[in-house]
Amino acid sequence: MSRVSYVNGRYYPHSKVSVHVEDRGYQFADGVYEVILIKNRYLVDEEPHLDRLDRSLQALEIDWPMKQASLKHVIKEIINKNKLKDGIVYIQITRGVAKRDHGFPKKSKPTLVITARPLLMPHLNTNNKGAKVITIPDIRWKRCDIKSVSLLPNVLGKQAAREQGAQEAWQFDEEGFVTEGTSTNAWMLDTDNNLITRYLDEAILSGVTRLTIIDIAKKEGIKIVERPFTVDEAKKSKEAFFTSSTSFLTPVVQIDDVIIGNGAPGLLTTKLLASYLRYVDCPKSNTLIS
Ligand code: PLP
Repeated sequence: MSRVSYVNGRYYPHSKVSVHVEDRGYQFADGVYEVILIKNRYLVDEEPHLDRLDRSLQALEIDWPMKQASLKHVIKEIINKNKLKDGIVYIQITRGVAKRDHGFPKKSKPTLVITARPLLMPHLNTNNKGAKVITIPDIRWKRCDIKSVSLLPNVLGKQAAREQGAQEAWQFDEEGFVTEGTSTNAWMLDTDNNLITRYLDEAILSGVTRLTIIDIAKKEGIKIVERPFTVDEAKKSKEAFFTSSTSFLTPVVQIDDVIIGNGAPGLLTTKLLASYLRYVDCPKSNTLIS
């Protein structure tokens, strides 16, 4: 089946679609994005994703290209046109096309791109064997709370991870505290069974999955502590994992050369993953694509 993508009001065959060479997203990474999971024809956590898109747009003073209700309609259309049951939808909004000049153009129309593709999810189950992560200095800018398309440090970090046989790179700040992964939020369980994840500030993205896992964990009586933890602490943790819309909750069994716990996904991690999988399959929390 051939893919269909959306750009500025029209649907195109994916192989034919393009944006202008002077789009500010292309020249300055002057734009923001979202990735939303489609599971069994439900859009998972659509509202919090669109709320975060709104915050990112406001932070960069980029106008909404259309009303939120219209955007939701286009998202549904693109999923239907691509006949997707399980997959992801990608939404990107840039400041638009203008003669190249760093300052904001006086007049420009935001560019809206929406694509969708299938996502195979065989790894997203409780048999997950766990992942290795490496640790790298966080060389990103100081507004990582904005989901900007400026992702070069994340790209380099993920590539370094892959070259070292790892699935993710956890970035650490100048004091040795883990900020987050290159496309995921970071978690650890300490020896007193406190589940720890960094609090929200401008150093990390407010992951939608992170918020959902916090809710689930609280309901299950797990003690959550939102504070930064160091790489050393993580290496001594009982359990560790990372979260995102596409990786769900992935157990971490190795950090650099250090094996976590007994080298297999931890009990609490596996329990939380099972709860998250139930949540994702629960129609009440998600939007059905009709
Ligand atoms: N942190 C970063 C840097 C990310 O890029 C992402 C997802 O793309 C996340 C965290 C996880 O966010 P979410 O759970 O909303 O997918």
